[in-house]
Amino acid sequence: MDAPLIIHSFRPWSDSPRPCWHCSAFRALVHQGSAALCTRGSGPVIRSLPQQGCSAFEREPGVDDEPGWHPTALPPEQSAPLIAAEVRARARTSAAAHR
Ligand code: SF4
Repeated sequence: MDAPLIIHSFRPWSDSPRPCWHCSAFRALVHQGSAALCTRGSGPVIRSLPQQGCSAFEREPGVDDEPGWHPTALPPEQSAPLIAAEVRARARTSAAAHR
C-alpha cells in the first residue's frame, strides 16, 4: 500500500518570524531581495529565502522595534563588492585556521 509522502521544511521557530534582517549576522538584502548576505562564518555567504532566517539566527537587539519594516535590496553594483569582500574574509579565516 502506498502512503502519501509528507515533506516538512525545517523551521525551528515557526511560531514567530525570524527574518535575516532581524539577525546580528545580516549584512544586506541582495539579488533583488531573494537572498541575504550573511556574515555568520559557519554558513553560506548567500542565504536564499531570507524572510525565514536559519537555525543560526541570533536576534540583533532593537532591530524589530518597527513591525513590518524590511530592508531594500541593494542593486548589483553595490552588493557585488560586499559579497566579494565577505568571501575573501572567509577565505582568509579558513587559511589562517589551516596553518
Ligand atoms: S542566514 Fe541565518 S545567520 Fe545569516 S543572517 Fe540569516 S538568520 Fe542570520
